[in-house]
Amino acid sequence: MIVTIDGPAGSGKSTVARELAARLGIPFLDTGAMYRAVAHAALSAGVSTGDAKAIVGLAARIKLDLDCGPTHTRVLVDGHDVSDAIRTIPVSTATSEVARIPGVRALLVAHQRRIGASLGSLVAEGRDQGSVVFPHADAKFVLEASIERRAARRGKELAEGGSSANIEMVMEAIRTRDASDSKHWAPLLESGEGNVLDTTNMTIEEVVARLVELLGGKPPA
Ligand code: C5P
Repeated sequence: MIVTIDGPAGSGKSTVARELAARLGIPFLDTGAMYRAVAHAALSAGVSTGDAKAIVGLAARIKLDLDCGPTHTRVLVDGHDVSDAIRTIPVSTATSEVARIPGVRALLVAHQRRIGASLGSLVAEGRDQGSVVFPHADAKFVLEASIERRAARRGKELAEGGSSANIEMVMEAIRTRDASDSKHWAPLLESGEGNVLDTTNMTIEEVVARLVELLGGKPPA
């Protein structure tokens, strides 16, 4: 069973996807972490995110391993754990820049499909999972939320990761990233496809419960 959960930054999709996967007893795939890992590798190697050819070369060269567990995502690049380092604002900004490079998307989409094929069942979370990566998914969801709510959630995540950022800064970073993401690559889903859920006034638990209900209320056999 393949379930896709797409949405913009701060829509709650990572936590929801992780919890839903745990409830269903199937693996979880955090695809944003893969784009973040490429951006982090570029910043570490001093490769300009504007140099598409160099970035694609780098993305093809690095060994990217993901362990998306029920409580955390561990990301290894060439054996080095970058799980925390990929969650900073500079890496988020650079991620949007590398994610718009078609060669990077092609590599990571292929990687995600390989992971899907080898696991068989998973909850895949990102922005293009239902539209591009797994168009034949068994269930597709899109999560939305107001910009204020999204900034508050992202600010909390940053604080938990030890970064200090004021909410205005976070909101501005989200606006810039949204504009770049929607201008430079695939829309989340064609309208009418997938179940769109506004999570602004919902807790994570309520969202997960709603998704389980929409999936028919029971884990897959
Ligand atoms: O979900 P997360 O905030 O970790 O995603 C970081 C960035 O990675 C997004 O802003 C987007 O630029 C990129 N991304 C993407 N395709 C995905 C997931 C994330 O381009 N499937």
